[in-house]
Amino acid sequence: MSTPRRAEHRQSKKLSLISLLTGLVTLVVLLTSSILLVGSYESQKKSLTETTLHLNYSNADRISKTMDSLFRSMRGSLEYSADKLSDVDAMTSNQVDDYLDLMRNSSNFFNSITVVEANGLIRNVAPARVGMAGRRITSKASLEALALQKPYISSPYMTSNTKRLIVFMSQPIFSSSDKYLGILSGTLYLQENNILSDIFGNSNVDDSGSYYYIVDSNGRLLYHPDKQLLGEDVSSNKVVQKLMKGESGEQQVRNTSGVEMLAGYSSVPTNGWGIVVVSPISLIHHQLMGHIRTILWYSLFPFIILLIGVMLVAYRLARPFVHLANLVSKMGKEKIVMPEAKPHWSQEADLLTKAVLLAVLNIQKQTDQLTQVAVTDVLTGLMNRRSLENTMSQWMASGLPFSLIMLDVDKFKFVNDTYGHLIGDEVLKHVAEVIVTSLRPDDVCYRYGGEEFVILLNRPEEAFNVAERVRRALEQSRAPIPTRVTVSLGIAHYPLHASEREELIEKADQALYLAKSRGRNRTIVSEG
Ligand code: GH3
Ligand code: MG
Ligand code: MG
Repeated sequence: MSTPRRAEHRQSKKLSLISLLTGLVTLVVLLTSSILLVGSYESQKKSLTETTLHLNYSNADRISKTMDSLFRSMRGSLEYSADKLSDVDAMTSNQVDDYLDLMRNSSNFFNSITVVEANGLIRNVAPARVGMAGRRITSKASLEALALQKPYISSPYMTSNTKRLIVFMSQPIFSSSDKYLGILSGTLYLQENNILSDIFGNSNVDDSGSYYYIVDSNGRLLYHPDKQLLGEDVSSNKVVQKLMKGESGEQQVRNTSGVEMLAGYSSVPTNGWGIVVVSPISLIHHQLMGHIRTILWYSLFPFIILLIGVMLVAYRLARPFVHLANLVSKMGKEKIVMPEAKPHWSQEADLLTKAVLLAVLNIQKQTDQLTQVAVTDVLTGLMNRRSLENTMSQWMASGLPFSLIMLDVDKFKFVNDTYGHLIGDEVLKHVAEVIVTSLRPDDVCYRYGGEEFVILLNRPEEAFNVAERVRRALEQSRAPIPTRVTVSLGIAHYPLHASEREELIEKADQALYLAKSRGRNRTIVSEG
């Protein structure tokens, strides 16, 4: 009981051509695209890294040039004004104040501007609210600048009282007779409103996540998107170290928080500061993933088309085989209607289809011949006893009345004995021929055995006449022997005389026996 189920199970485990081809194509596509994607990822990564580094360097360079030119302008402004103040001693305090206010408001370079006398006394300050006028300078930077008597720029430093990062710039003032009169100084509060913080203090992060920061010549952060880091010493950073040496360039670097960055850096000649433009390396990974997603998205549609194509081809490739298998499995079970042998585009399928169809056709022909032989009597060409039994069963199943005429050649032993067996056979053929020619096409004659024949006819009322017609036809026929050939006939009707096959034959045989016993060459209907 479990055998067919096991066979079914085994069958379901087998790979169909469609799954096989689809699987193979998917595997090939996956392998190929993985190789292509890895290759594309690597080359894209390299080129994106290089592009980002170049871009960051050129941005750092641009920012550095801007800052350099800004500091040059600031220096130019101080130089020009110091020259204007060469006769400061002859000017009233108000005149100097006005000049300083004009200077401050026209450029927005400095948060405050101061004129310091050679003795260190603060002569004028703009804006006046700073309120330092008349006091002595105390800061290290201004003292250094006053003593130097040369153009001066300080490193950014934290003021002792307000804790703000400032840069101090000064220009010496000489009279027309070259007498040192003091200094004109400008102070920049890095995080307050001035041209420097306007330009560098705010928008230093772009949409992509890249940003820049500015360090001073000691490696301290002056500008950074994260305001909390301002003033912090980042001199341990490799890029900052290069900037401190006055170098410019680009490189991949790990920042002080341990994040890998692509950095472009450029130092500013006028103040020794450095600009670093950085992009986190994750930015590139992000872009690469986007790139891969796009590739995958664009390959999806062709891949689906390819799969559908493959499934279609596989289906069409497998169809003739399934068709042939069905055809062959029907053999021996039912009558096979031979399909038209259409040429197939696949060479192998075409060959196999033709070969199988030819084989099926031959087998069919042979089977037909064998079937014919099985139901036919070789000597007379009539249907044989097996065929009679089949037809009787079918007729009985249909329930319609019919008649059976049993016919036996009279004294046939004598024919054999007198003329020999071969002539006896000729006589049997002759008898068969005469019976067939005197029957209607609907009536069937069978060779029952030896020299006995049976006629089936579905018109019981005509049975006696038909029997008599056959008997007379034989009586009058020219037999292959000099003597006359006669037959005796017995008739039985279905269902009148018998409802069973054997019984009906028996009844006809009994009637035939009666005909023999009553002198032969006659017809007797069963008496029930
Ligand atoms: P009856 O009138 O009583 O029927 O006499 P009969 O001689 O025909 O009786 P019986 O049935 O004894 O003889 C039949 C003979 O038919 C015997 C057998 O040798 C012969 N016979 C049977 N089949 C064949 C055959 O195929 N060919 C030939 N030549 N003879 C056959
Ligand atoms: Mg006989
Ligand atoms: Mg006989």
